[in-house]
Amino acid sequence: MTKLSELTTMQVGGTPARLVEATTHDELLTLAREAFVAEEPWFVLGGGSNLVASDEGFPGTVIHVATRGVDVLDAAEGEVRLRVAAGEPWDELVALTVSRGWSGIEALSGIPGSVGAAPVQNIGAYGQEVSETVVSVDFLDADTAEFLRIPRANLGLDYRTSVFKPGLTDPARLGVITAVEFLLADGGECRPRWPSGSSPPPSTCRSAPGWRSPTCAPACSTCARRKEWSSILPIATPPRAARSSPIRSCLAKPSKESRPTHRGGRPRRNRRIAWSRWARNPRLRPPSPPGR
Ligand SMILES: Cc1cc2nc3c(=O)[nH]c(=O)nc-3n(C[C@H](O)[C@H](O)[C@H](O)COP(=O)(O)OP(=O)(O)OC[C@H]3O[C@@H](n4cnc5c(N)ncnc54)[C@H](O)[C@@H]3O)c2cc1C
Repeated sequence: MTKLSELTTMQVGGTPARLVEATTHDELLTLAREAFVAEEPWFVLGGGSNLVASDEGFPGTVIHVATRGVDVLDAAEGEVRLRVAAGEPWDELVALTVSRGWSGIEALSGIPGSVGAAPVQNIGAYGQEVSETVVSVDFLDADTAEFLRIPRANLGLDYRTSVFKPGLTDPARLGVITAVEFLLADGGECRPRWPSGSSPPPSTCRSAPGWRSPTCAPACSTCARRKEWSSILPIATPPRAARSSPIRSCLAKPSKESRPTHRGGRPRRNRRIAWSRWARNPRLRPPSPPGR
């Protein structure tokens, strides 16, 4: 039986009571609906890059979203509309858009995880956030069993949060994101924004594994910045979800000055599960680089 340590970047976590993997949209809806009505807890797992799983496993169903597919929809001149399956690896989507010369998510290169998880915390880096390009999210609501297309205005996208994350007062909207629609520009300039006072990426980055296009260097520059602000504790093997990512070459031991410091505060827990989030673990939480 697959352990959660095999499915999470931190490579920790025991065996869940039940693990189901959905590789098609219909399968995802069926498996999620079954899990939602069962008398046991459930949890949606994407790339496993933002989770710390308990060694005791999980006492319910883990729904692993492994759906793939990028649909190019009709769009106005100069625009590109994509509907992307939740299980698509985020960084592969960025690579695809950069290779086609589509702009809007290029600065988010190197962020591990899945497309479906991207709106959950409104991923961002270097002044760009996914909220800038998300049009809508296809969502199976666990409470109502309704399958909805939720427009951006109703997603509550804010700094590293959304309606899908439990707030201080509001409960999270529980369910599974099955696809995300994006509106990109056909052409246009790359938009990584550097923190004021920082220098542009060195030209040696052109040979870095993340380099993709002579006119668009975000992957490479992301790589350079990640190394500088290294948020990774020393890991012998590259994290599973990061293996195909440019950050693979950037796993560096943080310098003494840049090591995470404890910021205090009580880590919150998902009310359905006892897993603490990677980002909320003060021991592992990275220093916030000015670009994030
Ligand atoms: C090395 C490293 C660098 C990172 N850099 C950045 C960064 O620069 N910027 C940034 O914003 N984040 C960053 N992150 C955080 C991480 O990349 C994001 O949180 C990412 O979106 C997690 O995706 P995932 O598929 O791995 O999600 P998981 O870890 O599998 O899940 C995270 C949460 O999203 C939920 N979820 C996942 N998929 C779905 C779905 N289809 N439907 C509903 N809920 C879902 C899960 O239930 C869970 O609550 C970094 C993480 C690592 C390890």
